[in-house]
Amino acid sequence: MSDFDYDLFVIGGGSGGVRAARIAAGHGARVGIAEEYRYGGTCVIRGCVPKKLFVYASKFSEEFEDAAGFGWQVGDRHFDWERLVDAKDREIARLEGVYRRNLERAGVEMFDSRALLEDEHTVRLLSDERRVRAKTILIAVGATPNVDPALPGGEHVITSNEAFHLADFPKRVVVAGGGYIAVEFAGIFNGLGAETTLIYRGEEILRGFDDDLRSALHEEMENKGIRVLCGDVFTSIEKAGDGSLLGRTRQGAALEADKIMFAIGRRPNTAGLGLESAGVEMSANGAIVVDAQSRTNIPSIYAVGDVTDRVNLTPVAIREGHAFADTVFGGKTWAADHSMIPTAVFSQPEMGTVGLTQAEAAAGHKSIDIYRARFRPMKHTLSGREEKMLLKMLVDADTDKVLGVHVLGPDAGELVQVLGIALKMGATKADFDATMAVHPTAAEELVTMREPSERLRA
Ligand code: FAD
Ligand code: NDP
Repeated sequence: MSDFDYDLFVIGGGSGGVRAARIAAGHGARVGIAEEYRYGGTCVIRGCVPKKLFVYASKFSEEFEDAAGFGWQVGDRHFDWERLVDAKDREIARLEGVYRRNLERAGVEMFDSRALLEDEHTVRLLSDERRVRAKTILIAVGATPNVDPALPGGEHVITSNEAFHLADFPKRVVVAGGGYIAVEFAGIFNGLGAETTLIYRGEEILRGFDDDLRSALHEEMENKGIRVLCGDVFTSIEKAGDGSLLGRTRQGAALEADKIMFAIGRRPNTAGLGLESAGVEMSANGAIVVDAQSRTNIPSIYAVGDVTDRVNLTPVAIREGHAFADTVFGGKTWAADHSMIPTAVFSQPEMGTVGLTQAEAAAGHKSIDIYRARFRPMKHTLSGREEKMLLKMLVDADTDKVLGVHVLGPDAGELVQVLGIALKMGATKADFDATMAVHPTAAEELVTMREPSERLRA
């Protein structure tokens, strides 16, 4: 008889933890899981899913305007924030139920509790001060939004967590940050009718993405009425008696707003988790250090997802959790592959990207052919909207291999999901050229790009 209560105990019921728990249970392991807030985790409860629902909501304002070019007369429009939040909350509650039922069906024992590590095999559940012992422990506690504790008046700002449940829709919003969340929420607030400003410390939004797309998105966001301030940060925030905020910046701007949202990155949820008592190694930013198999330095403890700060995306956390469970409990060893991960920013217009940016390609390859197409999507010939799509393909001129594809425009996320398969298979430019176009689409440009727009040679 084992002296462990569980073969596996998972801390954190989000994307990575839930997948690992279900798969391990399917392999016959006795599994327990603890979640301190709501099952489904960040992605389902206050991340990808509600965000995408808000993006859909915010796009209607343009759809109504565009309809006129196609002969439609749209009557009075009125946006009801409370109704949107209610509808979103119902869907999130339904999804949380699905997550719980799936865990139950898999035979996983669920605890609605914060859990802390006591040693390399012991977990303490705070809800009833129970201690459970497990042969293996998986830490999948995710991450939490950063704020700036040194900023005077920093207590007045909200993060993405609060943005999903604002009591009233703000008339004026400033979003600080230039990453995924800042850019996505600037589009949401603007589309829903708020006067929106984005303030970013760097030269151009979305550092790490292809430079052409970064500047093109910046331009399109401004065309939609978002004020984008680069090279600036808040130095203080004051709250007036009527609740309105005044943010002062290093460049001397005074930004008035009803809400100021910080989206300046996220930090691993490891504070106070008891990792030190179990001797688990962490990096300087509090991320758990793991190897390719998600093993920590303690043989009985593994970690997956955002808490390891590798690639902080839901599908990655899910795959890391699945690989861990198959490897440790299913007799099938494999590891999540972190190369060539397609990703989308649900900005407006949307951005999708897979493979190398031009800067990365130029740093690692001697000869690169760059194919660019910037054009007005067919829909806007009648809608009259001045929005352009940008498609960009980077090809290694020596091997003909496609190194990266970048898309700015409608459904870019859907496009790069499929492009990701081709690039993962090692597609060449000749493979793209040999593929028949689908007409009339925007994506057909990808198989009809004949001459490089630019040739980079070492
Ligand atoms: P999480 O999903 O965060 O799960 C961790 C869970 O652990 C949480 O439920 C937490 O409550 C729980 N927990 C923490 N500490 C404890 C404890 N001590 N005891 C018990 N429970 C604990 N990714 C995409 O791929 N696409 C997107 O469109 C996208 N949009 C996003 C939008 C926003 C606003 C945000 C914030 C994130 C978004 N992400 C997106 C990122 C994605 O949500 C994360 O990468 C993903 O959720 C990571 O999964 P995880 O399992 O590591 O952690
Ligand atoms: P990101 O890392 O994407 O962006 C953080 C932004 O904040 C950067 O622009 C960064 O600037 C800036 N920043 C960092 N520190 C400061 C500071 N002290 N003062 C001012 N600005 C600062 O983080 P997000 O919070 O936007 O999102 C977290 C992660 O969640 C993403 O990286 C992504 O992995 C995931 N996510 C994925 C989505 C998707 O798949 N569509 C959507 C939302 C989130 P700089 O560039 O100069 O460092």
